[in-house]
Amino acid sequence: MIHPAEFLPFALPDVGEDAIDAVAEVLRSGWLTTGPKTRRFEEAFADFLGEGVEAVAVNSGTAALHLGLEALGIEPGDQVVVPVYTFTATAEVVRYLGADPVFADVDEVSLNLTAVHVERVLTDRTRAVIPVHFGGLACAMAQILELADERGLEVLEDAAHAFPSTAGGALVGNLGSGATAFSFYATKTLATGEGGMLVTRRPEIARRARIMRLHGIDRDAFDRYRSERPSWYYEVVAPGFKYNMTDLAAAIGLCQLAKAEQMRAQREAIARKYDEAFRDLAVQLPAHAPEGDVHAWHLYVIRLTDEAPMSRDRFIGAMSERGIGTSVHFIPLHRHPYWRDRYGLRDEMFPVATRAYERAVSLPIYSRMSDTDVERVIDAVRGLLGGGG
Ligand SMILES: *Cc1c(COP(=O)(O)O)cnc(C)c1O
Repeated sequence: MIHPAEFLPFALPDVGEDAIDAVAEVLRSGWLTTGPKTRRFEEAFADFLGEGVEAVAVNSGTAALHLGLEALGIEPGDQVVVPVYTFTATAEVVRYLGADPVFADVDEVSLNLTAVHVERVLTDRTRAVIPVHFGGLACAMAQILELADERGLEVLEDAAHAFPSTAGGALVGNLGSGATAFSFYATKTLATGEGGMLVTRRPEIARRARIMRLHGIDRDAFDRYRSERPSWYYEVVAPGFKYNMTDLAAAIGLCQLAKAEQMRAQREAIARKYDEAFRDLAVQLPAHAPEGDVHAWHLYVIRLTDEAPMSRDRFIGAMSERGIGTSVHFIPLHRHPYWRDRYGLRDEMFPVATRAYERAVSLPIYSRMSDTDVERVIDAVRGLLGGGG
């Protein structure tokens, strides 16, 4: 039996003493909800992404997706294209607005949505597309944005895995889509426990998201009249949501942001070691970013081939017996009862996603892994998949 202390978890956030001190400082300040730290985090996040971007901090990536889609004007009856190979949040926000997701299969190599996949499922009701940058590898966005432009579609990027990633040399978040949603969930590359950020280059999108993230209260109007109105006064202009970020989360976010590139480089180094170690095994290795682009390496997903000596499920069990946590990204949406039954989805409609799902295993890849941890994963994988290790 393996002692629990020896278990290598699938994911661990890299929270340092600086973040612990920053949270303590917020707690002592007496201001726990959205306040100065959140404002600073929004500014720092926007600065990181570069010129012309505005950032709106919220309490989850799902909230960022919801606000983004709402601000882009999606309404009941509209259709929004989503990849079937994603987390349910990508599609559920479409339903929040009474619209219908339309599911597209993904590219066999990158497991990303492409313009070709989007084009296949367009109808005269299609209003928007939500590309997901799977595992931190950016979609081929130039083609998707061009198609969207031709067909008059809005683009909301689900960048829950893609901080920081680039496409065509520019950071995801500043590629010129309608809006981009990031997640700061505990396992993501920038972790605040729960949290998210909506970023956009369009001021009207940011303004609408700011209103809707806090009960539909119009802050700008409120600020404009502050000199004449009492401090308790505010105006509600829409039935908004309760999606604001706390200063506790923002304090952690600021510390995480300061070392985001360092953590990414550490994950990339692990990915390179894995690539080298698994080259001769019966596995399909994850796709890399095109030359000159940056992969966030949120996930390292291998796919067992037909030649592998065991099934994916047995492999996961055997890794666990060796004290190594793994995961599966994703159970595609057409395999979940709600999506399958509501939209009549079947395996044959999504051959790539179905096949990938049955063979995919996500291995641990995070900056807190030591060289010994990485070696342990390599030895276990090679031992199980017949690498003679
Ligand atoms: C994690 C994730 C989300 C949702 O983010 P939360 O912060 O957990 O709400 C959305 N899309 C994808 C692809 C994700 O992996």
